Amino acid sequence: MGETTSLRLYNTLTRTKEVFAPIDPANVRMYVCGPTVYDFAHIGNARPVIVFDLLFRLLRHLYGAEHVTYVRNITDVDDKINARAVRDFPGLPLNEAIRKVTETTAAQYQKDTLALGALEPTVQPRATDNIPQMQSLITSLIGSRHAYEAAGEVLFDVSSMPDYGKLSGRNLDENLAGARIAVDAHKKNPADFVLWKQSSAEEPGWDSPWGRGRPGWHIECSAMSERYLGPVFDIHAGGLDLIFPHHENEIAQSRCAHGTLVMANYWLHNGFLQVEGQKMSKSLGNFITIDDVLRTEVPVLTAVPGDHFELRHTWNGLTARLSMLQTHYREPIDWTEKRFDASREELMGWYETLRDVSFDAGVTSKAAPQVWAALADDLNAPLAISHLRAAAKTNPRALGEGMMALGLLDASLIDRDDLLLFDRQAGADDGQVQESIAARLTALNTRDFAKADQIRNDLLAQGIQLMDYKDESGQRQTKWEVKR
Ligand code: AMP
Ligand code: ZN
Repeated sequence: MGETTSLRLYNTLTRTKEVFAPIDPANVRMYVCGPTVYDFAHIGNARPVIVFDLLFRLLRHLYGAEHVTYVRNITDVDDKINARAVRDFPGLPLNEAIRKVTETTAAQYQKDTLALGALEPTVQPRATDNIPQMQSLITSLIGSRHAYEAAGEVLFDVSSMPDYGKLSGRNLDENLAGARIAVDAHKKNPADFVLWKQSSAEEPGWDSPWGRGRPGWHIECSAMSERYLGPVFDIHAGGLDLIFPHHENEIAQSRCAHGTLVMANYWLHNGFLQVEGQKMSKSLGNFITIDDVLRTEVPVLTAVPGDHFELRHTWNGLTARLSMLQTHYREPIDWTEKRFDASREELMGWYETLRDVSFDAGVTSKAAPQVWAALADDLNAPLAISHLRAAAKTNPRALGEGMMALGLLDASLIDRDDLLLFDRQAGADDGQVQESIAARLTALNTRDFAKADQIRNDLLAQGIQLMDYKDESGQRQTKWEVKR
Protein backbone atom coordinates (compact mmCIF):
# COMPACT_ATOMS: atom_id res chain seq x y z
CA MET A 1 0.00 0.00 0.00
CA GLY A 2 1.27 3.42 -0.93
CA GLU A 3 -0.53 5.21 1.87
CA THR A 4 -0.39 5.05 5.62
CA THR A 5 -4.07 5.89 5.94
CA SER A 6 -6.05 2.70 6.03
CA LEU A 7 -9.29 2.33 4.20
CA ARG A 8 -12.39 1.93 6.28
CA LEU A 9 -15.73 0.89 4.82
CA TYR A 10 -19.19 0.47 6.28
CA ASN A 11 -20.12 -3.17 5.89
CA THR A 12 -23.84 -3.96 5.68
CA LEU A 13 -23.06 -7.53 6.75
CA THR A 14 -21.74 -6.46 10.18
CA ARG A 15 -23.39 -3.04 10.35
CA THR A 16 -20.11 -1.44 11.35
CA LYS A 17 -17.37 0.54 9.74
CA GLU A 18 -14.45 -1.84 9.33
CA VAL A 19 -10.83 -1.58 8.29
CA PHE A 20 -10.61 -2.94 4.78
CA ALA A 21 -8.19 -5.86 4.41
CA PRO A 22 -8.17 -7.41 0.95
CA ILE A 23 -7.83 -11.16 0.48
CA ASP A 24 -5.01 -10.52 -1.96
CA PRO A 25 -3.59 -6.97 -2.18
CA ALA A 26 -2.18 -7.86 -5.60
CA ASN A 27 -5.72 -8.42 -6.85
CA VAL A 28 -8.42 -6.53 -5.00
CA ARG A 29 -11.79 -7.73 -6.30
CA MET A 30 -15.09 -5.87 -6.45
CA TYR A 31 -18.46 -6.77 -7.96
CA VAL A 32 -21.26 -4.26 -8.51
CA CYS A 33 -24.70 -5.29 -9.74
CA GLY A 34 -25.28 -3.55 -13.04
CA PRO A 35 -28.36 -2.60 -14.99
CA THR A 36 -31.15 -4.68 -16.44
CA VAL A 37 -31.00 -3.41 -19.99
CA TYR A 38 -34.56 -2.75 -21.14
CA ASP A 39 -34.82 1.02 -20.86
CA PHE A 40 -32.79 4.20 -20.38
CA ALA A 41 -31.05 4.34 -17.01
CA HIS A 42 -32.48 6.99 -14.68
CA ILE A 43 -30.53 9.31 -12.41
CA GLY A 44 -31.12 6.99 -9.47
CA ASN A 45 -29.21 4.34 -11.41
CA ALA A 46 -26.43 6.88 -11.88
CA ARG A 47 -25.78 6.86 -8.14
CA PRO A 48 -24.17 3.42 -7.77
CA VAL A 49 -22.27 4.08 -11.01
CA ILE A 50 -20.71 7.23 -9.56
CA VAL A 51 -20.27 6.06 -5.98
CA PHE A 52 -18.62 2.75 -6.81
CA ASP A 53 -16.50 4.33 -9.51
CA LEU A 54 -15.18 6.54 -6.74
CA LEU A 55 -14.38 3.43 -4.71
CA PHE A 56 -12.72 1.85 -7.76
CA ARG A 57 -10.53 4.95 -8.14
CA LEU A 58 -9.67 4.90 -4.47
CA LEU A 59 -8.71 1.20 -4.57
CA ARG A 60 -6.56 1.85 -7.64
CA HIS A 61 -4.89 4.69 -5.80
CA LEU A 62 -4.22 2.55 -2.73
CA TYR A 63 -3.25 -0.75 -4.37
CA GLY A 64 -2.16 0.29 -7.86
CA ALA A 65 -4.33 0.44 -10.96
CA GLU A 66 -3.29 -2.99 -12.17
CA HIS A 67 -4.12 -4.60 -8.82
CA VAL A 68 -7.85 -3.98 -8.80
CA THR A 69 -10.48 -5.98 -10.69
CA TYR A 70 -13.89 -4.36 -10.96
CA VAL A 71 -16.75 -6.36 -12.44
CA ARG A 72 -20.08 -4.71 -13.27
CA ASN A 73 -22.51 -7.01 -15.02
CA ILE A 74 -25.16 -6.40 -17.63
CA THR A 75 -28.41 -8.26 -17.01
CA ASP A 76 -29.68 -9.05 -20.47
CA VAL A 77 -32.00 -11.93 -19.50
CA ASP A 78 -35.11 -10.74 -17.72
CA ASP A 79 -38.84 -10.88 -18.26
CA LYS A 80 -38.99 -7.06 -18.35
CA ILE A 81 -36.72 -7.22 -21.40
CA ASN A 82 -38.97 -9.75 -23.11
CA ALA A 83 -42.03 -7.59 -22.49
CA ARG A 84 -40.28 -4.54 -23.89
CA ALA A 85 -39.14 -6.43 -26.97
CA VAL A 86 -42.68 -7.57 -27.74
CA ARG A 87 -44.01 -4.04 -27.27
CA ASP A 88 -41.36 -2.22 -29.31
CA PHE A 89 -40.68 -4.69 -32.11
CA PRO A 90 -43.92 -6.59 -32.65
CA GLY A 91 -42.96 -7.55 -36.20
CA LEU A 92 -39.66 -9.21 -35.33
CA PRO A 93 -38.96 -12.72 -34.07
CA LEU A 94 -38.61 -12.45 -30.29
CA ASN A 95 -34.92 -13.28 -30.15
CA GLU A 96 -34.07 -10.56 -32.64
CA ALA A 97 -36.32 -8.07 -30.91
CA ILE A 98 -34.66 -8.87 -27.58
CA ARG A 99 -31.25 -8.37 -29.09
CA LYS A 100 -32.29 -4.97 -30.39
CA VAL A 101 -33.57 -3.90 -26.98
CA THR A 102 -30.55 -5.11 -25.06
CA GLU A 103 -27.91 -3.89 -27.50
CA THR A 104 -29.23 -0.37 -27.84
CA THR A 105 -29.88 -0.10 -24.12
CA ALA A 106 -26.44 -1.43 -23.19
CA ALA A 107 -24.76 0.97 -25.63
CA GLN A 108 -26.72 3.87 -24.17
CA TYR A 109 -25.70 2.80 -20.67
CA GLN A 110 -22.06 2.70 -21.68
CA LYS A 111 -22.32 6.22 -23.08
CA ASP A 112 -24.12 7.47 -19.97
CA THR A 113 -21.58 6.03 -17.55
CA LEU A 114 -18.63 7.49 -19.42
CA ALA A 115 -20.27 10.90 -19.47
CA LEU A 116 -20.68 10.63 -15.69
CA GLY A 117 -16.91 10.45 -15.49
CA ALA A 118 -16.87 6.76 -14.56
CA LEU A 119 -13.94 4.61 -15.59
CA GLU A 120 -14.77 1.48 -17.49
CA PRO A 121 -14.92 -1.52 -15.17
CA THR A 122 -12.32 -4.21 -15.79
CA VAL A 123 -15.00 -6.63 -17.01
CA GLN A 124 -18.63 -6.07 -17.99
CA PRO A 125 -19.99 -9.58 -18.43
CA ARG A 126 -23.41 -10.24 -19.91
CA ALA A 127 -25.75 -12.80 -18.43
CA THR A 128 -26.35 -14.38 -21.86
CA ASP A 129 -22.63 -15.15 -22.14
CA ASN A 130 -22.67 -17.02 -18.82
CA ILE A 131 -25.54 -19.49 -19.09
CA PRO A 132 -23.35 -22.64 -18.77
CA GLN A 133 -21.78 -21.19 -15.60
CA MET A 134 -25.27 -20.65 -14.15
CA GLN A 135 -26.31 -24.17 -15.08
CA SER A 136 -23.30 -25.69 -13.39
CA LEU A 137 -24.02 -23.76 -10.17
CA ILE A 138 -27.61 -24.98 -10.27
CA THR A 139 -26.47 -28.56 -10.85
CA SER A 140 -24.23 -28.44 -7.82
CA LEU A 141 -26.99 -26.88 -5.67
CA ILE A 142 -29.37 -29.69 -6.64
CA GLY A 143 -26.61 -32.23 -5.95
CA SER A 144 -26.07 -30.88 -2.44
CA ARG A 145 -29.85 -30.72 -1.78
CA HIS A 146 -29.96 -26.94 -1.57
CA ALA A 147 -32.23 -26.84 -4.58
CA TYR A 148 -35.13 -28.90 -5.91
CA GLU A 149 -37.26 -29.19 -9.02
CA ALA A 150 -40.97 -28.49 -8.83
CA ALA A 151 -43.59 -27.61 -11.39
CA GLY A 152 -41.09 -27.00 -14.16
CA GLU A 153 -38.88 -24.76 -12.00
CA VAL A 154 -35.71 -25.24 -10.06
CA LEU A 155 -36.01 -23.55 -6.69
CA PHE A 156 -33.53 -22.76 -3.97
CA ASP A 157 -34.54 -24.32 -0.66
CA VAL A 158 -33.99 -21.59 1.93
CA SER A 159 -34.59 -23.98 4.82
CA SER A 160 -31.44 -25.84 3.76
CA MET A 161 -29.32 -22.91 4.89
CA PRO A 162 -29.38 -22.31 8.65
CA ASP A 163 -28.16 -18.72 8.50
CA TYR A 164 -30.16 -17.56 5.51
CA GLY A 165 -31.10 -13.90 5.98
CA LYS A 166 -27.96 -12.67 7.73
CA LEU A 167 -27.29 -9.76 5.39
CA SER A 168 -30.75 -8.25 5.55
CA GLY A 169 -31.35 -9.27 9.15
CA ARG A 170 -34.53 -11.09 8.22
CA ASN A 171 -35.15 -14.56 9.43
CA LEU A 172 -37.37 -17.11 7.82
CA ASP A 173 -40.08 -16.84 10.48
CA GLU A 174 -40.44 -13.14 9.79
CA ASN A 175 -40.59 -13.84 6.10
CA LEU A 176 -43.35 -16.29 6.75
CA ALA A 177 -45.24 -14.05 9.12
CA GLY A 178 -44.89 -10.96 6.99
CA ALA A 179 -45.54 -12.73 3.74
CA ARG A 180 -48.36 -11.16 1.81
CA ILE A 181 -47.09 -13.01 -1.22
CA ALA A 182 -49.39 -15.79 -2.24
CA VAL A 183 -47.78 -19.06 -1.24
CA ASP A 184 -47.03 -20.88 -4.44
CA ALA A 185 -48.24 -24.40 -3.91
CA HIS A 186 -45.16 -25.94 -5.47
CA LYS A 187 -42.74 -24.20 -3.07
CA LYS A 188 -41.61 -25.93 0.11
CA ASN A 189 -41.24 -22.51 1.72
CA PRO A 190 -42.68 -19.22 0.47
CA ALA A 191 -39.18 -17.67 0.57
CA ASP A 192 -37.80 -20.25 -1.87
CA PHE A 193 -36.73 -18.51 -5.05
CA VAL A 194 -36.30 -19.46 -8.68
CA LEU A 195 -32.96 -20.57 -10.07
CA TRP A 196 -34.29 -21.79 -13.41
CA LYS A 197 -37.67 -21.65 -15.06
CA GLN A 198 -39.03 -23.18 -18.20
CA SER A 199 -39.61 -21.12 -21.31
CA SER A 200 -42.48 -21.45 -23.71
CA ALA A 201 -41.63 -21.88 -27.38
CA GLU A 202 -41.83 -18.10 -27.93
CA GLU A 203 -39.81 -17.14 -24.88
CA PRO A 204 -36.01 -16.97 -24.92
CA GLY A 205 -34.52 -20.16 -23.58
CA TRP A 206 -31.50 -22.45 -23.36
CA ASP A 207 -31.41 -26.22 -23.22
CA SER A 208 -30.73 -27.59 -19.79
CA PRO A 209 -31.13 -30.76 -17.72
CA TRP A 210 -34.38 -29.17 -16.45
CA GLY A 211 -35.81 -28.48 -19.88
CA ARG A 212 -35.47 -25.53 -22.20
CA GLY A 213 -35.60 -22.49 -19.98
CA ARG A 214 -33.95 -19.39 -18.58
CA PRO A 215 -32.21 -18.44 -15.35
CA GLY A 216 -33.64 -16.46 -12.45
CA TRP A 217 -32.10 -13.04 -11.79
CA HIS A 218 -30.09 -13.88 -8.64
CA ILE A 219 -28.18 -16.82 -10.11
CA GLU A 220 -26.82 -14.56 -12.86
CA CYS A 221 -24.71 -12.54 -10.42
CA SER A 222 -23.54 -15.61 -8.49
CA ALA A 223 -22.26 -17.12 -11.75
CA MET A 224 -20.63 -13.98 -13.15
CA SER A 225 -18.92 -13.01 -9.90
CA GLU A 226 -17.52 -16.52 -9.49
CA ARG A 227 -16.24 -16.61 -13.04
CA TYR A 228 -14.31 -13.36 -12.81
CA LEU A 229 -13.58 -12.97 -9.10
CA GLY A 230 -13.65 -16.48 -7.64
CA PRO A 231 -15.99 -18.05 -5.05
CA VAL A 232 -14.96 -15.56 -2.33
CA PHE A 233 -13.96 -12.00 -3.11
CA ASP A 234 -13.56 -8.64 -1.37
CA ILE A 235 -16.37 -6.22 -2.10
CA HIS A 236 -19.91 -6.63 -3.38
CA ALA A 237 -22.01 -3.53 -3.88
CA GLY A 238 -25.22 -2.04 -5.22
CA GLY A 239 -28.15 0.11 -4.18
CA LEU A 240 -29.96 -0.34 -0.86
CA ASP A 241 -32.93 -1.98 -2.55
CA LEU A 242 -30.76 -4.92 -3.57
CA ILE A 243 -30.01 -6.07 -0.01
CA PHE A 244 -33.19 -8.10 0.00
CA PRO A 245 -33.91 -10.28 -1.79
CA HIS A 246 -31.21 -10.00 -4.46
CA HIS A 247 -28.01 -9.94 -2.44
CA GLU A 248 -29.39 -12.24 0.23
CA ASN A 249 -30.15 -14.80 -2.44
CA GLU A 250 -26.85 -14.37 -4.22
CA ILE A 251 -25.16 -15.14 -0.89
CA ALA A 252 -27.31 -18.20 -0.34
CA GLN A 253 -26.56 -19.61 -3.79
CA SER A 254 -22.85 -18.90 -3.81
CA ARG A 255 -22.10 -20.01 -0.27
CA CYS A 256 -24.11 -23.21 -0.58
CA ALA A 257 -22.65 -24.06 -3.98
CA HIS A 258 -19.06 -23.44 -2.91
CA GLY A 259 -19.29 -24.45 0.74
CA THR A 260 -17.83 -21.15 1.93
CA LEU A 261 -18.56 -19.04 4.99
CA VAL A 262 -18.96 -15.85 2.98
CA MET A 263 -19.44 -14.82 -0.62
CA ALA A 264 -17.81 -11.41 -0.26
CA ASN A 265 -16.21 -9.90 2.82
CA TYR A 266 -17.59 -6.35 2.51
CA TRP A 267 -21.09 -5.48 1.35
CA LEU A 268 -21.68 -1.84 0.42
CA HIS A 269 -24.98 -0.19 -0.39
CA ASN A 270 -25.75 3.28 -1.64
CA GLY A 271 -28.76 5.23 -0.39
CA PHE A 272 -31.69 6.10 -2.61
CA LEU A 273 -32.22 9.16 -4.71
CA GLN A 274 -35.53 10.95 -5.02
CA VAL A 275 -36.47 13.91 -7.18
CA GLU A 276 -37.67 17.26 -5.83
CA GLY A 277 -38.75 15.57 -2.61
CA GLN A 278 -40.63 12.70 -4.22
CA LYS A 279 -39.99 9.16 -5.26
CA MET A 280 -39.16 9.12 -8.95
CA SER A 281 -41.92 7.59 -11.01
CA LYS A 282 -43.24 7.77 -14.53
CA SER A 283 -46.75 8.51 -13.36
CA LEU A 284 -45.64 11.53 -11.30
CA GLY A 285 -43.83 12.90 -14.34
CA ASN A 286 -40.60 13.33 -12.37
CA PHE A 287 -38.76 10.45 -13.97
CA ILE A 288 -35.40 11.74 -15.20
CA THR A 289 -33.07 9.63 -17.28
CA ILE A 290 -29.32 10.15 -17.30
CA ASP A 291 -29.69 10.98 -20.96
CA ASP A 292 -32.16 13.79 -20.11
CA VAL A 293 -29.60 15.28 -17.78
CA LEU A 294 -26.84 15.03 -20.36
CA ARG A 295 -28.98 16.79 -22.92
CA THR A 296 -29.93 19.69 -20.69
CA GLU A 297 -28.95 22.90 -22.41
CA VAL A 298 -25.98 24.59 -20.85
CA PRO A 299 -26.20 28.22 -21.92
CA VAL A 300 -22.55 28.99 -21.56
CA LEU A 301 -21.57 26.15 -23.85
CA THR A 302 -24.00 26.92 -26.61
CA ALA A 303 -21.73 29.87 -27.42
CA VAL A 304 -18.96 27.54 -28.54
CA PRO A 305 -18.20 27.99 -32.22
CA GLY A 306 -18.83 24.75 -34.05
CA ASP A 307 -20.73 23.55 -30.99
CA HIS A 308 -20.90 19.83 -30.55
CA PHE A 309 -23.09 17.68 -28.45
CA GLU A 310 -20.34 15.70 -26.84
CA LEU A 311 -19.11 18.77 -25.11
CA ARG A 312 -22.36 19.27 -23.33
CA HIS A 313 -22.52 15.65 -22.40
CA THR A 314 -19.21 15.75 -20.64
CA TRP A 315 -20.04 18.91 -18.82
CA ASN A 316 -23.47 17.87 -17.59
CA GLY A 317 -22.35 14.40 -16.64
CA LEU A 318 -19.63 15.82 -14.42
CA THR A 319 -22.06 18.33 -12.96
CA ALA A 320 -24.32 15.41 -12.03
CA ARG A 321 -21.31 13.68 -10.52
CA LEU A 322 -20.35 16.66 -8.37
CA SER A 323 -23.94 17.16 -7.37
CA MET A 324 -24.29 13.57 -6.17
CA LEU A 325 -20.97 13.42 -4.41
CA GLN A 326 -22.02 16.27 -2.16
CA THR A 327 -24.12 13.80 -0.22
CA HIS A 328 -22.52 10.87 1.57
CA TYR A 329 -23.24 7.71 -0.39
CA ARG A 330 -25.22 6.05 2.39
CA GLU A 331 -27.55 9.03 2.87
CA PRO A 332 -30.63 9.63 0.75
CA ILE A 333 -30.33 12.32 -1.94
CA ASP A 334 -32.97 14.76 -2.97
CA TRP A 335 -32.18 15.62 -6.59
CA THR A 336 -33.31 19.14 -7.41
CA GLU A 337 -32.78 21.42 -10.35
CA LYS A 338 -31.60 24.11 -7.96
CA ARG A 339 -28.91 21.87 -6.62
CA PHE A 340 -27.83 20.80 -10.09
CA ASP A 341 -27.50 24.45 -11.17
CA ALA A 342 -25.45 25.25 -8.09
CA SER A 343 -23.10 22.36 -8.86
CA ARG A 344 -22.70 23.60 -12.42
CA GLU A 345 -21.76 27.07 -11.18
CA GLU A 346 -19.29 25.63 -8.75
CA LEU A 347 -17.69 23.32 -11.30
CA MET A 348 -17.43 26.13 -13.82
CA GLY A 349 -15.74 28.30 -11.23
CA TRP A 350 -13.25 25.53 -10.54
CA TYR A 351 -12.46 25.04 -14.19
CA GLU A 352 -11.86 28.77 -14.49
CA THR A 353 -9.49 28.59 -11.54
CA LEU A 354 -7.60 25.78 -13.26
CA ARG A 355 -7.12 27.50 -16.58
CA ASP A 356 -3.51 28.36 -16.01
CA VAL A 357 -2.39 25.44 -13.92
CA SER A 358 -0.26 22.91 -15.67
CA PHE A 359 -0.51 19.27 -14.69
CA ASP A 360 2.17 16.72 -15.24
CA ALA A 361 1.12 13.28 -16.28
CA GLY A 362 1.01 10.90 -13.33
CA VAL A 363 1.00 13.64 -10.74
CA THR A 364 -2.22 12.35 -9.22
CA SER A 365 -0.72 9.46 -7.33
CA LYS A 366 0.80 11.60 -4.61
CA ALA A 367 -1.61 14.46 -4.87
CA ALA A 368 -4.29 15.77 -2.65
CA PRO A 369 -3.58 13.70 0.47
CA GLN A 370 -6.45 15.29 2.36
CA VAL A 371 -8.87 14.37 -0.37
CA TRP A 372 -7.70 10.76 -0.44
CA ALA A 373 -7.80 10.62 3.36
CA ALA A 374 -11.42 11.79 3.35
CA LEU A 375 -12.32 9.14 0.79
CA ALA A 376 -10.52 6.46 2.78
CA ASP A 377 -12.94 7.12 5.62
CA ASP A 378 -15.92 5.27 4.15
CA LEU A 379 -15.91 7.42 0.98
CA ASN A 380 -16.48 10.73 2.70
CA ALA A 381 -16.88 12.68 -0.53
CA PRO A 382 -18.64 15.66 1.12
CA LEU A 383 -15.54 16.20 3.26
CA ALA A 384 -13.31 15.78 0.20
CA ILE A 385 -15.35 18.46 -1.57
CA SER A 386 -14.93 20.84 1.34
CA HIS A 387 -11.16 20.42 0.89
CA LEU A 388 -11.59 21.29 -2.80
CA ARG A 389 -13.48 24.45 -1.85
CA ALA A 390 -10.66 25.52 0.42
CA ALA A 391 -8.05 24.75 -2.24
CA ALA A 392 -10.01 26.68 -4.87
CA LYS A 393 -9.26 29.84 -2.86
CA THR A 394 -5.59 29.29 -2.23
CA ASN A 395 -4.06 26.48 -4.23
CA PRO A 396 -5.36 25.83 -7.76
CA ARG A 397 -2.99 22.95 -8.24
CA ALA A 398 -4.29 21.10 -5.20
CA LEU A 399 -7.79 21.85 -6.43
CA GLY A 400 -7.01 20.21 -9.77
CA GLU A 401 -5.43 17.19 -8.16
CA GLY A 402 -8.34 16.79 -5.79
CA MET A 403 -10.76 17.06 -8.69
CA MET A 404 -8.86 14.31 -10.48
CA ALA A 405 -9.17 12.08 -7.41
CA LEU A 406 -12.95 12.57 -7.48
CA GLY A 407 -13.12 11.95 -11.23
CA LEU A 408 -14.11 15.55 -11.99
CA LEU A 409 -11.10 16.27 -14.14
CA ASP A 410 -8.98 14.02 -16.29
CA ALA A 411 -6.22 14.31 -18.83
CA SER A 412 -8.62 14.53 -21.74
CA LEU A 413 -10.34 17.50 -20.14
CA ILE A 414 -7.16 19.29 -19.18
CA ASP A 415 -6.18 19.60 -22.81
CA ARG A 416 -9.52 20.93 -23.82
CA ASP A 417 -9.37 24.70 -23.75
CA ASP A 418 -12.81 24.74 -25.32
CA LEU A 419 -14.25 23.09 -22.25
CA LEU A 420 -12.52 25.36 -19.79
CA LEU A 421 -12.93 28.72 -21.41
CA PHE A 422 -15.08 28.73 -24.39
CA ASP A 423 -14.01 31.73 -26.44
CA ARG A 424 -10.50 32.06 -25.13
CA GLN A 425 -8.84 31.00 -28.33
CA ALA A 426 -10.96 33.22 -30.55
CA GLY A 427 -8.60 35.21 -32.72
CA ALA A 428 -5.59 34.58 -30.50
CA ASP A 429 -2.71 32.18 -30.79
CA ASP A 430 -1.30 31.17 -27.43
CA GLY A 431 2.24 30.73 -28.78
CA GLN A 432 2.37 34.28 -30.09
CA VAL A 433 0.90 35.73 -26.93
CA GLN A 434 3.45 33.83 -24.85
CA GLU A 435 6.22 35.33 -26.95
CA SER A 436 4.89 38.81 -26.28
CA ILE A 437 4.58 38.00 -22.58
CA ALA A 438 8.21 36.86 -22.51
CA ALA A 439 9.37 40.02 -24.32
CA ARG A 440 7.44 42.14 -21.85
CA LEU A 441 8.97 40.30 -18.92
CA THR A 442 12.45 40.98 -20.28
CA ALA A 443 11.52 44.65 -20.68
CA LEU A 444 10.24 44.78 -17.09
CA ASN A 445 13.37 43.08 -15.77
CA THR A 446 15.53 45.64 -17.56
CA ARG A 447 13.28 48.41 -16.26
CA ASP A 448 12.22 49.37 -19.78
CA PHE A 449 8.70 50.25 -18.64
CA ALA A 450 7.81 52.13 -21.79
CA LYS A 451 8.42 49.06 -23.88
CA ALA A 452 6.58 46.83 -21.43
CA ASP A 453 3.54 49.11 -21.55
CA GLN A 454 3.74 49.22 -25.33
CA ILE A 455 3.53 45.43 -25.54
CA ARG A 456 0.65 45.30 -23.08
CA ASN A 457 -1.28 47.96 -25.00
CA ASP A 458 -0.64 46.32 -28.36
CA LEU A 459 -2.13 43.10 -27.04
CA LEU A 460 -5.06 44.96 -25.53
CA ALA A 461 -5.78 46.48 -28.91
CA GLN A 462 -6.15 42.90 -30.17
CA GLY A 463 -8.57 42.18 -27.32
CA ILE A 464 -6.05 40.33 -25.21
CA GLN A 465 -5.82 41.26 -21.56
CA LEU A 466 -2.72 40.47 -19.50
CA MET A 467 -2.85 39.83 -15.78
CA ASP A 468 0.18 39.69 -13.55
CA TYR A 469 0.35 37.57 -10.43
CA LYS A 470 2.92 35.90 -8.20
CA ASP A 471 3.33 32.15 -8.23
CA GLU A 472 3.96 29.97 -5.16
CA SER A 473 7.64 30.86 -5.07
CA GLY A 474 6.93 34.58 -5.37
CA GLN A 475 7.99 34.84 -9.03
CA ARG A 476 6.11 37.19 -11.29
CA GLN A 477 3.88 35.35 -13.77
CA THR A 478 1.54 36.62 -16.42
CA LYS A 479 -1.62 35.04 -17.72
CA TRP A 480 -3.93 36.26 -20.42
CA GLU A 481 -7.50 36.09 -21.55
CA VAL A 482 -9.61 37.40 -24.36
CA LYS A 483 -11.32 40.52 -23.10
CA ARG A 484 -15.08 40.25 -23.44
P1 AMP B 1 -31.89 -1.74 -11.57
O1 AMP B 1 -31.57 -1.62 -13.04
O2 AMP B 1 -33.24 -1.25 -11.17
O3 AMP B 1 -31.60 -3.14 -11.03
O4 AMP B 1 -30.88 -0.77 -10.79
C1 AMP B 1 -29.52 -0.70 -11.04
C2 AMP B 1 -28.84 -0.10 -9.84
O5 AMP B 1 -29.37 1.20 -9.53
C3 AMP B 1 -29.02 -0.92 -8.58
O6 AMP B 1 -27.78 -0.90 -7.86
C4 AMP B 1 -30.10 -0.17 -7.81
O7 AMP B 1 -30.00 -0.40 -6.43
C5 AMP B 1 -29.76 1.25 -8.15
N1 AMP B 1 -30.91 2.18 -8.02
C6 AMP B 1 -32.13 2.04 -8.60
N2 AMP B 1 -32.92 3.09 -8.28
C7 AMP B 1 -32.21 3.92 -7.48
C8 AMP B 1 -32.47 5.17 -6.82
N3 AMP B 1 -33.65 5.82 -6.96
N4 AMP B 1 -31.48 5.72 -6.08
C9 AMP B 1 -30.29 5.10 -5.94
N5 AMP B 1 -29.97 3.92 -6.54
C10 AMP B 1 -30.92 3.32 -7.29
ZN1 ZN C 1 -26.47 -8.84 -8.55
